Amino acid sequence: MSELVRLSDVTKVYQGGITGALNGVSVTVEKGEFTAIMGPSGSGKSTMLNLIAGLDRPTSGAVIVGGTDLAKLGEAGLARFRRDHVGFVFQFFHLLPNLTALENVLIPAQLKGSEVPGRARELLGQLGIEEVADRYPARLSGGQQQRVAIARALINNPTLLLADEPTGALDTHSGEQVMDLLVQLHGRGQTILLVTHDAKLATRHAARVLSVIDGKVVDDARLEGPERAASEVIRVRTEEASR
Ligand code: ADP
Repeated sequence: MSELVRLSDVTKVYQGGITGALNGVSVTVEKGEFTAIMGPSGSGKSTMLNLIAGLDRPTSGAVIVGGTDLAKLGEAGLARFRRDHVGFVFQFFHLLPNLTALENVLIPAQLKGSEVPGRARELLGQLGIEEVADRYPARLSGGQQQRVAIARALINNPTLLLADEPTGALDTHSGEQVMDLLVQLHGRGQTILLVTHDAKLATRHAARVLSVIDGKVVDDARLEGPERAASEVIRVRTEEASR
């Protein structure tokens, strides 16, 4: 695997903030990894994701993605970087209500000047919701809306798929389906960074868990095999016990 993301001693202090939202974070992410960024509310997870996405800039330190130091890009360069390399999935879907599911999926492609309705339909099919292509978001369930949002995030074949609490607004079953989708995408080689405050969600699905507290990475655990299997056993037992 090769390195895709590098944060070097990154600090972010928001205007008016007394302490940093991130405080000297150094971490690398390899191509193809499925990494969860886990921590309590306010610990700096979204800030970290937004810096990697080029949606915001650090106060100090460097954010390097695919060998490009994002500090070297101006606003137009950053917008291009986001369009070409980043797919973003949010907690509340952010679909445009006056466009159909298919039209929503096509937005990032149109920004790039490419017309790919066939690929958009194919993606919706891969995500199990081809039948909703011509419906408006208001007619879709939360789980369906999130899958449309994932298709939109994938339409430009992003180097990085970033998901900020993507199951936070979903019921357990729809949340499971979305997580299963992310696991499948990872299986096909997609690099994924998932922000969650839910430890169970992180350890069950991601292969690596970065724990963030008070703007610092306090733990970096790679869950190859045993831990994931163990957490799976705990999940099944918990579910059985709750039946
Ligand atoms: P998390 O995603 O872990 O909940 P955030 O990265 O959203 O944490 O926030 C980290 C800290 O930075 C919090 O104290 C939050 O209030 C603060 N913060 C986040 N965004 C802003 C902003 N745009 N302006 C000022 N403070 C912010």
